[in-house]
Amino acid sequence: MSIYSSERLQDFKSYVPGEQPRDRHYIKLNTNESPFPPSPAVIAAAEQEAANCNLYPDPTSYELRRAAAEVFGVPTECILPVNGSDEILNFAFMAFCDMRHPVAFPDITYGVYPILAKLHGIPFREVPVREDFSVNYQDYLGLSHTIVLANPNAPTGLVLSAEEIEAIVSSNKNNVVIVDEAYVSFGGRSVIPLTEKYDNLLVTRTFSKSHSMAGARLGFGIGSQKLIEDMNLVKYATNAYNVNRMTAAMGTAALRENESAVRNCSVIAEVRDRTAHRLRELGFWLTDSKANFLFARTDQIDGIALYEALRARGILVRHFSKPAISGFNRITVGTAEQMEKFLAATAAILNQREVTK
Ligand SMILES: *Cc1c(COP(=O)(O)O)cnc(C)c1O
Repeated sequence: MSIYSSERLQDFKSYVPGEQPRDRHYIKLNTNESPFPPSPAVIAAAEQEAANCNLYPDPTSYELRRAAAEVFGVPTECILPVNGSDEILNFAFMAFCDMRHPVAFPDITYGVYPILAKLHGIPFREVPVREDFSVNYQDYLGLSHTIVLANPNAPTGLVLSAEEIEAIVSSNKNNVVIVDEAYVSFGGRSVIPLTEKYDNLLVTRTFSKSHSMAGARLGFGIGSQKLIEDMNLVKYATNAYNVNRMTAAMGTAALRENESAVRNCSVIAEVRDRTAHRLRELGFWLTDSKANFLFARTDQIDGIALYEALRARGILVRHFSKPAISGFNRITVGTAEQMEKFLAATAAILNQREVTK
């Protein structure tokens, strides 16, 4: 740390993203990207728009919002496009949390939430999940905190029902409830329709996982016009042109052929369920993930040892050192062929240990 660093960086530990290594070719099952490339129409949209890059993009991303309004079924004023959904989370923490509005989220969830709270000096409460990692919605009724819930949750893939989310939202009328739907396209049920009924509900979406656009950085906040206006104050103060021209064009094109993303997501969901079945046959315990990843452990090998053995075989998965989940690995669901290679490598690693015992 430099001698110039501000108070807020004292002892600040930032988010550590999954590895993007360049030393060799890996089967990448560590950052929940889509294994499918963007469609030709989406790529062409970016190429075309590149020619206009001497001009700033439309700060309101109007065309993109129009296309998104069709797909999400809400008015354009209720949508805020952002530079990846991590940006909308930051906007929401800045707009809706402070000493008077502390924030609450599960103790096992997306690691960015506590980090944003610390960065902004917001008091936060980590609500314990149950022993099976499920979130008990009753813990969030009438909580008088800003609430953040990933649904499906990360890294467990477990879902709350739309009814449970609605109970949380309706019992917290004086605070904002943020539902992070990064993984909803793989098997959860979206609560976007509830944003028309509840002024305090903010839904966040990303095109990183469902729409093959992790590298383009595109996300959305969806909520009442008032919530969107509040977050626009933060957006215009920090980065008025947060969505670049190529990304906006790609997003618009992707939304116009949204069914193809929906199909890709259902292929991934099928491969996920088949892979889960095979892992259980190999003696793993898994959560009932509805996301594009599996969360698995086995008594046969430590989480970190399996991670390292897979890495040595050219397969990257994600291991978290947090004690409650250090026995697990989070395995992104890739193509059927990638998952065959992952399963074969895993079986070989377990076998080898059996022999050397
Ligand atoms: C991946 C992820 C995000 C961030 O997605 P980007 O749009 O790529 O910034 C947000 N929330 C959760 C739970 C995620 O897993």
